[in-house]
Amino acid sequence: MKCSVALSVEDLSFSYGGKKALSDVNFKIHSGECTILLGPNGAGKSTLFSLITRLYDTHNGQIELCGFDVKRQTRLALEKLGVVFQQSTLDMDLTVLQNLRYHTALHGMGRKLAEQRIQLELERLSMFDRRFEKIRQLNGGHRRRVEIARALLHKPAVLLLDEPTVGLDVPSRLAIVDYVHCLAEEEKLAVLWASHLIDEIYPEDHLIVLHQGCVKANGLVDEVLKITEATAIKDAFCQLTQGEQA
Ligand code: ADP
Ligand code: MG
Repeated sequence: MKCSVALSVEDLSFSYGGKKALSDVNFKIHSGECTILLGPNGAGKSTLFSLITRLYDTHNGQIELCGFDVKRQTRLALEKLGVVFQQSTLDMDLTVLQNLRYHTALHGMGRKLAEQRIQLELERLSMFDRRFEKIRQLNGGHRRRVEIARALLHKPAVLLLDEPTVGLDVPSRLAIVDYVHCLAEEEKLAVLWASHLIDEIYPEDHLIVLHQGCVKANGLVDEVLKITEATAIKDAFCQLTQGEQA
């Protein structure tokens, strides 16, 4: 069952040794909505993802996925989550199909259901015909598509994507941005997309601006524009991240 508040982050702080990476981060994301986590390099986006996915322990604060605390109800919480990490985690020497089957096995899916889910998710991304190819043979855009398909196999309620289009050519980028926005709307998925690229934001998106580990703005694109009295997101972003070292 999908729920309205799909991810809730409360009073979250995290340090690497003595160096603070996140300070009192608070936000919620909702089903059916694409939320862009916009921040320059070093803002803390990947650190936040590492805490949500339990790669790091949460030191201060609370993270809930569909009402399940990631620390106390880890299995139930992580079942709700699909993730595309910043660095690819596909096995380059296995085929598309082998990579995806491994994931369905991890989620305890039976063979028949697994094959159905794999076919559906690959077809939706026009990758089903490439299923017997090794990942190494695919271009960057197609590898990313495989990672998105894989993240969706177990029907998560929340999809995290950490800068999934960096390094891709423009048509591949646009196709992925468009696909993920449609997913949020049609599948009622809650999407959290980390990015530093302004042109990946759609006018109806929810926007969270993160800078030096702090949330500088949190609202619909129009609301963020209003608060900053800016006419374009680019200007609002520059204003909110002033002092950023180039
Ligand atoms: P982003 O993903 O927004 O680029 P990160 O979460 O990767 O930001 O990094 C946030 C801050 O934490 C940066 O100052 C970065 O240098 C630091 N940082 C990230 N990973 C580590 C680590 N493993 N050890 C120490 N500092 C780190
Ligand atoms: Mg990062």
